[in-house]
Amino acid sequence: MSVTETGGPTGAVGADAGGPSVAEQVARLRATFRGGRTRDRSWRLRQLGGLERMLTEAEDEFVAALAADLGRPRVEAWMADLAPTVAESRHARRHLRRWMRPHRVGLPLSVQPGSARWVHEPLGVVLVIGPWNYPAYLTLAPLVAAFAAGNCAVVKPSEYAPATAEVLARLLPRYTDPDAVAVVTGGPGETQELLAQGLDHAFFTGSPEVGAKVMAAAAPHLTPVTLELGGKSPVIVAADADVEVAARRIAWTKLMNSGQTCVAPDYLLVDSAVRDELVERLVAETARMRGGAGGGVRIVDARQAARLAGLLADDHGGTVVAGGTIDPEARTGEPTVVLDPRPGSRLLTEEIFGPILPVLTVDGVDAAIAHVNAGPKPLAAYVFTGSSRTAERVTREVPAGATVVNHLMFHVLVPRLPFGGVGRSGSGAYHGRFGFETFSHRRAVLRKPARPDPGIVYPPYDGRTERLLRRIF
Ligand code: NAD
Repeated sequence: MSVTETGGPTGAVGADAGGPSVAEQVARLRATFRGGRTRDRSWRLRQLGGLERMLTEAEDEFVAALAADLGRPRVEAWMADLAPTVAESRHARRHLRRWMRPHRVGLPLSVQPGSARWVHEPLGVVLVIGPWNYPAYLTLAPLVAAFAAGNCAVVKPSEYAPATAEVLARLLPRYTDPDAVAVVTGGPGETQELLAQGLDHAFFTGSPEVGAKVMAAAAPHLTPVTLELGGKSPVIVAADADVEVAARRIAWTKLMNSGQTCVAPDYLLVDSAVRDELVERLVAETARMRGGAGGGVRIVDARQAARLAGLLADDHGGTVVAGGTIDPEARTGEPTVVLDPRPGSRLLTEEIFGPILPVLTVDGVDAAIAHVNAGPKPLAAYVFTGSSRTAERVTREVPAGATVVNHLMFHVLVPRLPFGGVGRSGSGAYHGRFGFETFSHRRAVLRKPARPDPGIVYPPYDGRTERLLRRIF
């Protein structure tokens, strides 16, 4: 186990090097929270400002770490990890005053006289468990929400993105209140140990399988959980779609981070009328966007690459029309298109999370909707169509975390939209105001004057008082 000391700008000290234990770290954060300073708006604004400064001043360090962990080029590291985190934080800073405003409410006759309001108050010490695929953004965007809501936070970055975890552990305490944040590095054991502390909220981003374990570990302590999970996000391409644009947008978003994106297009359901044209354009666009580079794109590690190779080695019954080679040793995989794999094959039942794209031919939108609805509710559902009726139908009839019409993934960048799954793709949401609410308790406050204190409400009651009470309550 390695617990990072966050006691000052001197950097990381592991527990094995005599640093504090997980329990000691949590106790320190609890003491900070009890002290009350995190409730002030000015404290919250300073933390958000600190996060933004960290990402700006240390951009090179983050870019280098993301290159080491995931082979990301600078522009992708900036676009997909750093810029959206800064945007999320800026949005929170700008709107915090409004979000924190108390809400006055009227009183029913039975409670008058008096006054009532409800306020958002911080939960206390919260836990953020991050995944490896966007290891800065998906760890820091929940932290933005946690700070905006006035909490102390333990951050547990993914062990599969160790370079980014190291940068976070070293820099977070320098740029934000070191007594309000702790970075604990490690894997399942450390995460379970953190959950055993009975923290005030656990915010998890990762797979549905591990999400279930996190929920189970939180249950004995009644720690509330937000689960940002994954799944198979479908792309329906209708016969009336602009196929050229659809192909370009699908190719781009599937290539991003080599398909290792929770809201990546997982598989396509394409109307038979445009199937051949779409596949042809998709393959051509992918090659063009790679600038003529052959071979595979980078996969995070050999374990994930072996899993992807397993999906292709499976008896899927489809036709590989592009790519097909995954090399676990080199940690690379060719962008691969598999036409019409067998229903029930692993390609159509397991989340792909890599550069493989199964394409199913369907006879119209009805068949596509029926296919999606036969499985768990996806994190995102995409539809390419020229008809707003079709777009509305898919939105209404396919339950999903989000629906995007004629594009993919861009809903993530709208801070005024809630981001989260439904059913097996997750529960709870964040981004913007929704993140602030996730990390807040809505507390009711009722004030009554001591007098008047009409005796009529107190027993014993006779027929007359009962009649009166029935009118008031
Ligand atoms: P993962 O579930 O393997 O790991 C996520 C985190 O859980 C890591 O920090 C890990 O240390 C921890 N963990 C692992 N086993 C644990 C256990 N037994 N108990 C407690 N904690 C444990 O996920 P991953 O491989 O990092 O990410 C890929 C998955 O995450 C995909 O399913 C993807 O769709 C999903 N994802 C979802 C979102 C979203 O916002 N909804 C974003 C990114 C990724």
